[in-house]
Amino acid sequence: MELKSDIRRKRRALVELSKSLFDRGYIAGSAGNISVRAGVDKVLATPSGACLGRLSEESLALLSLEGEQIKGPRASKETKFHLALYNNDPACGSVVHLHSTWVTLLSCRADLDTEAPIRPFTPYYVMKIGCLQVVPYYPPGDERLAEAMKAWAGQRNAFLLRNHGGIVTAGTLTKAVDLAEELEETAKLYCLLNKNNIHYLSEAEITQLRGR
Ligand SMILES: [Zn+2]
Repeated sequence: MELKSDIRRKRRALVELSKSLFDRGYIAGSAGNISVRAGVDKVLATPSGACLGRLSEESLALLSLEGEQIKGPRASKETKFHLALYNNDPACGSVVHLHSTWVTLLSCRADLDTEAPIRPFTPYYVMKIGCLQVVPYYPPGDERLAEAMKAWAGQRNAFLLRNHGGIVTAGTLTKAVDLAEELEETAKLYCLLNKNNIHYLSEAEITQLRGR
């Protein structure tokens, strides 16, 4: 009974937060996908090919952690990497994957520093994201992207997919959405500022923030 009401609450939150991201321009068309862990062994995910701004609670896919469809429409083919994260990181409660403009712009830059795609220049970037992991380009839905996520699960909470977009993970859906917004806004500032004209945080300042 408790599980049923928990899933109902998560359905509502997933619909509301997806619409909020869409309404504020973080999502366009039917791009991106979001999921949340529902109970110990299930995942609620946004459906394949749908506009995330116009979902209903019934239009969400309920899957097992093995990817079997339990209820609702088919989930996006990109849900494979969501499942890789849930299955390999018990603390992962939600995954948000967006093709938001500035994160995607950064992922497509020819001069991207793949070791440090964003050098720390704001305290919130250091405290909330810490280390943005670059993932090589794979076509959407490719098994190798899920394999890459499996290897990084639990070690990173933010990923930049080359020529594609971003992925963030957190313990809850609300925190994951906040993180996705933080990443997009940081990428926007980083690109607008031009990386050669930024007053970066010093190593000592970064160490102090990481100790918090
Ligand atoms: Zn995608």
